[in-house]
Amino acid sequence: MTTAQPENGPLAGEPRMLIDGELQLTESGAMFGVEHPATEQQAGDATDATVADMERAIGAARRAFDRTEWSRDAGFRFHCLSQLHEALDRNKERLRRVLITEVGCPVSVTGSQIESPIDEVKHWAEHGRDFEHLVDTGVHDTQLGPARRKLHYEPVGVVGAITPWNVPFYLNIAETVPALMAGNTVVLKPAQLTPWSGSELGRIVAEETDIPAGVFNVVTANANEVGAALSADPRVDMITFTGSTATGRAILAAGAPTIKKTLLELGGKSAHIVLDDADFSASLPLAAMMACVMSGQSCILPSRILLPRKRYDEGLAILQASMENFPVGDPWVAGNMQGPQISETQRKKVLGLIQSGIASGARVVTGGGIPETLPVGYYVQPTLLADVDPDSQVAQEEIFGPVLTVTPYDTDDEAVAIANNTIYGLSGEVSSADVDRAFAVAERMRTGNVTINGKSHFGVNSPFGGTRQSGLGYRNGAQGYTEYLHIKTIGMPA
Ligand code: ADP
Repeated sequence: MTTAQPENGPLAGEPRMLIDGELQLTESGAMFGVEHPATEQQAGDATDATVADMERAIGAARRAFDRTEWSRDAGFRFHCLSQLHEALDRNKERLRRVLITEVGCPVSVTGSQIESPIDEVKHWAEHGRDFEHLVDTGVHDTQLGPARRKLHYEPVGVVGAITPWNVPFYLNIAETVPALMAGNTVVLKPAQLTPWSGSELGRIVAEETDIPAGVFNVVTANANEVGAALSADPRVDMITFTGSTATGRAILAAGAPTIKKTLLELGGKSAHIVLDDADFSASLPLAAMMACVMSGQSCILPSRILLPRKRYDEGLAILQASMENFPVGDPWVAGNMQGPQISETQRKKVLGLIQSGIASGARVVTGGGIPETLPVGYYVQPTLLADVDPDSQVAQEEIFGPVLTVTPYDTDDEAVAIANNTIYGLSGEVSSADVDRAFAVAERMRTGNVTINGKSHFGVNSPFGGTRQSGLGYRNGAQGYTEYLHIKTIGMPA
């Protein structure tokens, strides 16, 4: 077994939070530990902020919004975010090591979690620079005579960003940079398992950019009450959140008394409908890979595979071979594509759902437990469950593990019905030799996004949002910028 090279191994991130332009520890000095999931060892710690710290951060963001030129000076914002882009690029290798340390994601698959979000900072800076924030819609007839109307796209105000641990650096950028470029001020509350992907961003903003004090704040904390305080505070105008549907409901409820604008990207239980004419040798190895690369810790993963009954065994055999040969192991070793789950709690949850599937009649084709060769680290075997009842818990709850469930179907109508048999509606996939046929099926899926034949729907240029209990609003695309703006319509003499 190859072991990690020390010069390229775990690295502790910034322990301080950023409030009102100052990197700082909480007054009591309390810290919480950050574990490296591949070694089960504590890799360092982060300051454990209190609700009072969160309130100071919100106050700083409120002052920076109300009393500085940040919300009005798009040229300055472009300058600052261009600086941030360059600074992140300079810090790229450090950020990668810190990310692998707290998440355990394999070094080979960090491109989408480091390079892509850094590129997206440049994208949003340029998008905001080129966006017309004031639009003259011309003269309109009214009962009181002609009126010229102008639309002013204004920032919403103070934005609270609450992020999860699965792709933390990417989501910290995706939730805060378009908000900042649109002229808002931000308080970021990263997940407790991954505080450093947030605090490193805070450090870089403070030390390497001209972003004024209070415009961008990062508060790391171990207690959920600190995030809850952000989602309830009347000084916060908008919450942007990515995480579980249960927490999304709590955030929406906390914002209700002040009618907070709320952008939610929540859970998913996406289906992959493999039509009977599909090229199995192309679509199924890719499906297996997607289930394993992030240890299944992806909200958009099509984790329910629906196979035509007449080609069921053929499909299962391809999935089985792909999962059994998947390179699982030390995330620091290039070539490994699946690392550990992020924590023992998460691993237990995954193993528990696998057991619930077995109890409800599913058959383990491969995997189902902990790899014998990896006794240290929170690893789970790539797992294929066949004959899964579409109403069972394992087919209804998000697993967030390297697990595919497979259910046979007889007709396309039945496949669509099974795909839609969920409270979620985040993404989905269709495979077919006939793209028009696949498109027709994709149109019937009650979901926000669909991939056909492995061609991804996801990217900074295209809107991404869930339907039903998977979310509210959009990230990415033009909509991913206007979400952070209000339109003020001004009528004036013609
Ligand atoms: P998980 O259950 O996988 O940990 P969550 O959706 O609960 O994921 O967590 C995502 C983010 O939401 C984290 O930053 C977490 O601290 C935060 N959070 C958890 N509970 C609340 C809450 N009640 N209000 C606001 N934020 C919360």
